[in-house]
Amino acid sequence: MKAIVYRGPRDVRVEEMPDAIIEKPTDVLVRITATNICGSDLHMYEGRTDMEAGRILGHENLGEVIEVGAAVDRVKVGDMVCLPFNIGCGFCANCERGLSGYCLTANPGTAGAAYGFAGMGPYSGGQAELLRVPYGDYNCLVLPEDAKEKENDYVMLSDIFPTGYHATELAKVKPGDSVVIYGAGPVGLMAATSAFIKGASQVFVVDTHKDRLELAEKIGAIAIDDTEGKGVEKVLDLTGGQGADCGCECVGYQCCNMHGKEVPNLTMNNLVQTVKATGTIGVVGVFIPKDPGAEDALAKEGKIAFDFGQFWFKGQRIATGQANVKAYNRSLGKMIHADKAKPSMIISHELSLDEAPKGYENFDKRKSGWTKVVLKPGK
Ligand code: NAD
Ligand code: ZN
Repeated sequence: MKAIVYRGPRDVRVEEMPDAIIEKPTDVLVRITATNICGSDLHMYEGRTDMEAGRILGHENLGEVIEVGAAVDRVKVGDMVCLPFNIGCGFCANCERGLSGYCLTANPGTAGAAYGFAGMGPYSGGQAELLRVPYGDYNCLVLPEDAKEKENDYVMLSDIFPTGYHATELAKVKPGDSVVIYGAGPVGLMAATSAFIKGASQVFVVDTHKDRLELAEKIGAIAIDDTEGKGVEKVLDLTGGQGADCGCECVGYQCCNMHGKEVPNLTMNNLVQTVKATGTIGVVGVFIPKDPGAEDALAKEGKIAFDFGQFWFKGQRIATGQANVKAYNRSLGKMIHADKAKPSMIISHELSLDEAPKGYENFDKRKSGWTKVVLKPGK
């Protein structure tokens, strides 16, 4: 099968790889029809994780079931399914509680597994023609009859729509709240969408990319252009000096200052400043335990200089981590089905697998107009 293989920093190639197959009776085999490039792929693409060369990337996957293992009951050949980026078993202590992002079975020795992801188990990604889905009955979200027509919406259920929603859950967004979101990438935009779903009265989205800020405005948010480094001041001005009720971090450890220089503690400290006293901060942007590629000594150890005194003084709270996609994908899928949500509005490019290296390069450069790339292996 054709697949996108990570060969080293900024080097992904279209290669012929052995076909994915059913390996266990609980597996499902999917012919991928849509698979996105994610901001998380970029941390790997840039060589800023311990991703092994030779692995197939891709954790935002949707396709048609073409074979099921002997122990699969629910999922049938011909079903259109969207796969959460997390691989869960469904029966461990964490999956049982809905924390499928922290499955204790799928990646023994740690908590959490995913397709084509550094440090999250040996599973191949779905930027390929075929994907093996472990624990198929648990992991497949079977889509309704409009699956093909709304494929570009439903594929967002694999990660960024639930992840954006998770950011607002972690931040405890309630009806009437004001919410400040750092990052107008796909995740930040989905967090803004989700904040409105939850009844937020005001949503501020901070970034420096004008094309992305325009999308934030389309969603109904107030765009905060941080190009001159005045984002914090602007949010404080618009919230009577108090800060927003809640905050979401949707950037991660590679966050940059206005000059494009990485300052890994910037968004977290900006959140402490721009969320009100007693407010909660939800962090879905990825931070990693070790970052040998970082410039400063602290960051190499996965640490940041965090304004803990100010954070404590304001009585704020933080919640972090991978999204438990299964906790939300069914409900958010119903919103898509009922035309109440249209996450495909952030897609800028639909490319073939052969064009994926170009997609990676442009999305990685955050070139204007490259907001979200969906790959169509069948085309
Ligand atoms: P992205 O890289 O396309 O978007 C990040 C945005 O943040 C960019 O538009 C960038 O300009 C902006 N940014 C950089 N520095 C900033 C700053 N100081 N202030 C404000 N904005 C700043 O990526 P994405 O796909 O939107 O993903 C965002 C993060 O979420 C990544 O770290 C990704 O790995 C992570 N993620 C986490 C989960 C999860 O389950 N927790 C799931 C998916 C993605
Ligand atoms: Zn992703």
